[in-house]
Formats: sequence, structure tokens, C-alpha cells
Amino acid sequence: MTEYEISCLGKVRYHQRAYAKKASSRIRRNGGPNLRPYHCQYCLQWHLGHRPGHATYLRTRLNGPVPVQELTP
Ligand SMILES: [Zn+2]
Repeated sequence: MTEYEISCLGKVRYHQRAYAKKASSRIRRNGGPNLRPYHCQYCLQWHLGHRPGHATYLRTRLNGPVPVQELTP
């Protein structure tokens, strides 16, 4: 997996940091992981990232972004 695939591909894109922060707090309220907005060097938009050591990715669903916690052995 390249850094691009990890940090950009398949992630939800936010046009502004404020949108990413809103989505982050909504996910947190729903019992999801604590994600931090970061500016992407590839698509130049905002993504939500996980804390180091947590393999968490966001997937887009019809009702919005859904955090997917991938279990690591
Ligand atoms: Zn990106």
C-alpha cells in the first residue's frame, strides 16, 4: 500500500477544514473513533485521519461517511 492509497484514496474529501471537523465530531458522538482533520497533499482537500496505531478508514455510504475500523492482528 502506498502512502497515497493510505492517506487519500477511498477517503472522504472535505472542501473545508470546518466540514471535516463537523464530520469528526459527529462520528465521535456516534461512538466512532476520534479522527483528526488533515490537509491532503495529493488532492489538496481535507480528510479525516486516525491516531497513529489505529487503522481506521472512512468509507462513503448513502447516509454519509461511515468509519470502518480494520482489525489488525
Ligand atoms: Zn486526498
